Amino acid sequence: MQLASASESPAGSRLGRLTGAVRGLFGLAVDLALPPLCPACREPVIGRALCAGCWAKLNFIAPPYCERLGIPFAFDSGQGLLSLQAIADPPAYGRARAAVRYDDVARALVHAFKYGDRLDLAPTLGRWMAAAGRELLAEADGIVAVPLHWRRLWARRFNQSAALATVIAAESGVPLVHEGLRRVKATAQQVGLTRVQRADNIQGAFRVPAAGKAEVVGRRLVLVDDVLTTGATVDGCTRALLRAGAAHVDVLVLARVVDAVRPPI
Ligand SMILES: [Zn+2]
Repeated sequence: MQLASASESPAGSRLGRLTGAVRGLFGLAVDLALPPLCPACREPVIGRALCAGCWAKLNFIAPPYCERLGIPFAFDSGQGLLSLQAIADPPAYGRARAAVRYDDVARALVHAFKYGDRLDLAPTLGRWMAAAGRELLAEADGIVAVPLHWRRLWARRFNQSAALATVIAAESGVPLVHEGLRRVKATAQQVGLTRVQRADNIQGAFRVPAAGKAEVVGRRLVLVDDVLTTGATVDGCTRALLRAGAAHVDVLVLARVVDAVRPPI
């Protein structure tokens, strides 16, 4: 009696907890059994990740792009060109490639994947990335996912970058380096910060743990993340990997913010 009076609606809350636990345990199975919804517009979809309308609005990134940054050029001026941005302010990483432009549909897709329990999207998104990064993966010895701090990992229950990296490893045959990087500093969310603030925020946030060192030293690595905005996070990770002895680090992301760049003419 005392226990029952301690809660406003004991039967209801018990049922709610039970349903939550069942969904948690069998989340993937339940999601597969229900008609899936388009993660961008919430319309029911059958047999694909996005509805036809949202699919058409998605902007896949294709050459011609800056050889270094992977940002598309407005017009084709030949192979192997670098953007002025890459020459003026070269990143720590070698090359970056992204599957899609980070626009409205991509943002909704990433949001559903990251925060909306749509882990079932990982195989589709990972395959897009493996295709976009084919050239980088062909030369790589290992794949490293951008890690989450354990506190954020605990809150979100999974690391979205690691989920994508697992699919890319299976698609490409390049092995996953499980202990490649650790986030040793709980950084503030990057959203809303300027480019300089983002770089400061990420300073010293990543380290290669002793357990991962052997798989990093002398290796060509592909670093995997979900979204590339200013590049502060992947730059911070790249510096940590290079400091630990990695031979080369390329970056592969699902979506990147694209500001128009021009080839140096
Ligand atoms: Zn849609």
